[in-house]
Amino acid sequence: MSARVAHPQEPHHPAEKPVIHCHKCGEPCKGEVLRVQTKHFHIKCFTCKVCGCDLAQGGFFIKNGEYLCTLDYQRMYGTRCHGCGEFVEGEVVTALGKTYHPNCFACTICKRPFPPGDRVTFNGRDCLCQLCAQPMSASPKEASCSSSKCPQPPIDMSSS
Ligand SMILES: [Zn+2]
Ligand SMILES: [Zn+2]
Ligand SMILES: [Zn+2]
Ligand SMILES: [Zn+2]
Repeated sequence: MSARVAHPQEPHHPAEKPVIHCHKCGEPCKGEVLRVQTKHFHIKCFTCKVCGCDLAQGGFFIKNGEYLCTLDYQRMYGTRCHGCGEFVEGEVVTALGKTYHPNCFACTICKRPFPPGDRVTFNGRDCLCQLCAQPMSASPKEASCSSSKCPQPPIDMSSS
């Protein structure tokens, strides 16, 4: 290690460049310094809080002042698509308090993704597109009818 000789032309300023301390280990940062927002890190110190992987290489997330790799962030805070169960990133569709990939938010019956701006009918259990939400004839689950106006098919039990 060689001591750095101060440049002779440099005026000796009382307010010298403040020593940057690594946010992680607290040691002065020299050489390669990674700056993340207002904080500085040694390259080797900028690691995932959870798994310790090198965050300088890939993407990272900041949550509650802690630095996490994408995988750990998703595992801990990620939102899963209600349709396929995978994590949702980027464009999401939120409907009825649930989150979907745009392609996973699809009609339960015809499985086609809802076109943007289209009306979605939620029948309490399934999301249906306009076509599938059309009243269907006599759903078997709603066969019980208390109205006397309902034509009751005569049951012929007689055997001859
Ligand atoms: Zn450090
Ligand atoms: Zn990690
Ligand atoms: Zn999905
Ligand atoms: Zn449909």
